[in-house]
Amino acid sequence: MSVLVPDGVHRTILLAAPRSFCAGVERAIEAVELALDQREGPVYVRKQIVHNTHVVAELRDRGAVFVDELDAVPDGATVVFSAHGVSPAVHAEAADRGLEVIDATCPLVTKVHVEARRFAGRGDTVVLVGHAGHEEVEGTMGEAPDSTVLVGTAAEVAGLRIADPTRVSYLTQTTLAVEEAAEVVDALRARYPDLRGPASDDICYATTNRQEALAAIAAEAELVLVVGSANSSNSQRLVELAARHDTPGYLIDGPADLRPEWLAGVRVVGLTAGASAPPRLVEEVVAALSGMGPVTVTERETSRETVHFTLPTSLRPA
Ligand code: SF4
Repeated sequence: MSVLVPDGVHRTILLAAPRSFCAGVERAIEAVELALDQREGPVYVRKQIVHNTHVVAELRDRGAVFVDELDAVPDGATVVFSAHGVSPAVHAEAADRGLEVIDATCPLVTKVHVEARRFAGRGDTVVLVGHAGHEEVEGTMGEAPDSTVLVGTAAEVAGLRIADPTRVSYLTQTTLAVEEAAEVVDALRARYPDLRGPASDDICYATTNRQEALAAIAAEAELVLVVGSANSSNSQRLVELAARHDTPGYLIDGPADLRPEWLAGVRVVGLTAGASAPPRLVEEVVAALSGMGPVTVTERETSRETVHFTLPTSLRPA
């Protein structure tokens, strides 16, 4: 727990907008909340419903039981699949076990799964641009495991070995850095001129908007604070984006992570939050900074989000 000591410095907080929860995260959290209200027995959640420690802790306090794999869920129980999606093998296991599945996979992740099936189905090798080990990547690769290869960087493209270089498609994880993903796709296109891809970008609107909003303030800020948990991909990309603008950036789970040495002599603080971080944490960070000295909060809005996803069918009112 860090203690910020008042220093009387007048700070300007540039608040990036949009920031914080996206439509897919709101839907996933609501799905767990409704399942807890509507189902009589325990509600299990496979993996973190979204990558945020506060969200998971709050839902656990309300009764949700978080598990890593389905073998920790009793036969016939209710299980919620997280916003990051699961592979067909996980769906099949749940069906075999008679589990009631509430699928909170973000519809924009489902879109990528559908593309993976379609591209592999037409005989292409699918190159998925993404980060090894991320749950979304595991789920997407599971759609066509024998036809999909993963690349993380443009440099890795040179190492690909694809049997038919004329039949290659690409997909991307939804939460990548827009600029870096474009570099990887350029490298793929240079190596495989017949490369085909999705009709519209797989990097989701929320990831893109939060990067654009931060880019609009990053150069002006002397320090960028990104509220989000360490395993949140889109939050990590925001910290990297600050560095691309030569501004030091730090990922904080909440105000307790603030370090006085980051703020020493800093008068302009850029503040944003990843798509899985609750809005109240941003308010708490502003309140913590106000405890050091006077602050002026200026919001810079680069786009307005109106996206809303309907709830999983089994949770909708009859
Ligand atoms: Fe869906 Fe994008 Fe939000 Fe992930 S970050 S849950 S893909 S809207």
